Amino acid sequence: MKILDDPRTLKRDDPARSTGDAPEISIFLPVYNEEPNLMPLHAKLDEALKTLDRSAEIVYVDDGSTDGSLKILRDIAEVDPRVRVVGLRRNYGQTAAMAAGIDAASGKVLIPMDADLQNDPADIKRLLEKLDEGYDVVSGWRKNRQDKMFTRKIPSMIANRIISWIGGVPLHDYGCSLKAYRRESLQDVRLYGEMHRFIPIYASWAGARVTELPVTHHARTMGKSKYGLSRTLKVVFDLMTIKFMASYQTKPIYVFGMFGMLAFAISLIAGLYAVFLKIIHKADFVQTPLPILAIVMFAVGVQFLLMGLLAEMLVRTYHESQAKAIYAVRERLGFRNDNS
Ligand code: UDP
Ligand code: MG
Repeated sequence: MKILDDPRTLKRDDPARSTGDAPEISIFLPVYNEEPNLMPLHAKLDEALKTLDRSAEIVYVDDGSTDGSLKILRDIAEVDPRVRVVGLRRNYGQTAAMAAGIDAASGKVLIPMDADLQNDPADIKRLLEKLDEGYDVVSGWRKNRQDKMFTRKIPSMIANRIISWIGGVPLHDYGCSLKAYRRESLQDVRLYGEMHRFIPIYASWAGARVTELPVTHHARTMGKSKYGLSRTLKVVFDLMTIKFMASYQTKPIYVFGMFGMLAFAISLIAGLYAVFLKIIHKADFVQTPLPILAIVMFAVGVQFLLMGLLAEMLVRTYHESQAKAIYAVRERLGFRNDNS
């Protein structure tokens, strides 16, 4: 087994990927303490794949599980040549685990899925059929969602409305993990925070055709959910971030410059008015706060302009450092170019 520490060695446009033997579909699943679910899950996946007439690989990303999940995954990889396992060094969270899955997957169509049996592998077939109708992204919609009403379903419904509105891509269920992407639509998508759910928005901004499809959703029977109400709030913050990034990322000086100009304008008006009072009404400069206001606003204006320039530098650094991965890989199992 070869151990790769540097995720940059797993470049998405690795030439090995584009050779003919890349599978048609890659299913990737983040796994965090899902020990009791893994065997039944893999059996169901296997069954679902049998009904498809397509070559497939299954990428399990162990997100630093503290139970026996990784061991079970190793066992599965041993007997099933379609299985690849990526073991992360610690628990990075679902989004990072998914990013690791995307980076490791080599298929032409990428299908993320939860590892807790809440998504149904039988839906993969329908997602693929929908893609074949000419879409780049098909997002699952847990129309009949089996989760808690007040802490999960209602907050998620509100969040979905807001996300649809701000992102401009109307979907009922951003949070559903089960989706299908053409590889090209994931090019250059970088994930942070809870942002894996926003991939359809990024993709759509980059020109992908996005649609949704109702999928089956089961209640979790084994293992524990890792989330509660607090996630909804994180999702809203993430959304604000991507909206800001998308709108101003490449031109922060415009935003800061506007505030700067506003401050200069206030400074100028206050200053002129102070001079006007002095000359016409013979009022002393110290009798009104206007001169102070003029000076302060001038300084604020200068600050805004300088911040804008600083932001421009940051933005350039940001763009140039995009190659940076948000996780570190401990081990990779069952990949074709590992000479183990
Ligand atoms: N997960 C993960 N890392 C984490 C939390 C969750 O990889 O830190 C995985 C988890 O094993 C499951 C998926 O993400 O496969 C969704 O998690 P969960 O079922 O707890 O979320 P819910 O369905 O309750 O929204
Ligand atoms: Mg779940």
